[in-house]
Amino acid sequence: MPIPFNRPYMTGRELTLIGEAHAKGHLSGDGAFTRQCHAWLEEKVGCCKALLTHSCTAALEMSALLLDLQPGDEVIMPSFTFVSTANAFVLRGAVPVFVDIRPDTFNLDETLVEAAITPRTRAICVVHYAGVACEMDAILDIAERFGLKVVEDAAQGIFSTYKGRPLGSIGAFGALSFHETKNVISGEGGALLVNDPAYVERAEIIREKGTNRSKFFRGQVDKYTWVDVGSSYLPGEIIAAFLAAQLEQGEDITRMRLALWDRYHEWAAKFEGDGLVRRPIVPENCGHNAHMYYLLLSGLEQRTVFIEAMKAEGVGSVFHYIPLHSSPAGRRFGRTSGALPVTDDISDRLVRLPLFSGLANELDNVLDVAGRALQAAARL
Ligand SMILES: *Cc1c(COP(=O)(O)O)cnc(C)c1O
Repeated sequence: MPIPFNRPYMTGRELTLIGEAHAKGHLSGDGAFTRQCHAWLEEKVGCCKALLTHSCTAALEMSALLLDLQPGDEVIMPSFTFVSTANAFVLRGAVPVFVDIRPDTFNLDETLVEAAITPRTRAICVVHYAGVACEMDAILDIAERFGLKVVEDAAQGIFSTYKGRPLGSIGAFGALSFHETKNVISGEGGALLVNDPAYVERAEIIREKGTNRSKFFRGQVDKYTWVDVGSSYLPGEIIAAFLAAQLEQGEDITRMRLALWDRYHEWAAKFEGDGLVRRPIVPENCGHNAHMYYLLLSGLEQRTVFIEAMKAEGVGSVFHYIPLHSSPAGRRFGRTSGALPVTDDISDRLVRLPLFSGLANELDNVLDVAGRALQAAARL
């Protein structure tokens, strides 16, 4: 594909920092580059403790362990999300309770959350879709009234804000992803952001195979031992060095993406006026990070024709998600709260366009091709 849907962006500094990690000879986790990334995240996101993980999936699994979820406990979440949002809790025997999304942002519909609460509900896992924040004030209010914890799946949300607050810093835990399809990348990678100091010590233990090794390294205990459940959730220093190079330029990356997003948005206005598409909606109080540019087409057939027409001219475009509530594992492990008409409708009509730093020179071409593909879809 001459213009793929995604092309991982490199800042040019990655190999230099990887070379430094190599020269230091400390290759396992929690060395100087990991500490540098932790400090960066704690400062920029404003969380109480940042811990690099090998994926956002791992950070979500750590959240589920930290919440001590028991079999049969329930976690409210959207169905319109990636599998890891649900899997992390299902691994603990918890039941994902799927709630419909808002028709504007495709985020968890906060007005439907209360009706999904039962005596077994323990947590709400919100997903900030496309880096646009959920209505957190309403969700935090419900969580407080019912004694629930809030986990933010902020996989797509680095550098985004809700009423000025960085995403991932609002709930008890935030989970970031540095997968190569995200804004800031390390191939595979993620971070758990711990916002409640009461969880910090146990988070370190769970991440280090259930040992108090982090305390040992800080000289707080004279030997380390097995103290709790845990796994190996930390990345090695080579990955942390790569990520450090990306984080250094994170603000520039976001600016480049926002410029591309704005050009898409301006271009799509005409097609929206003609009734062919609906453009993304970003509420007033949300600062977004241009994680994604998507269009909502009029139906499934139109989307299929659009993607084929794009492909025929060498431009990648993709759709997602198969709603979790209608997937084989979602039916087996979860349940829905009421009908999910918005989720079912959106998942048939949404298409994502190429968006990566470095696309600028090719964007005019993408817009021409996409314009023709929209006309082809409109002729159906
Ligand atoms: C990408 C993504 C994940 C998974 O991230 P990994 O780092 O690949 O584990 C989870 N949730 C959402 C919403 C995502 O977009």
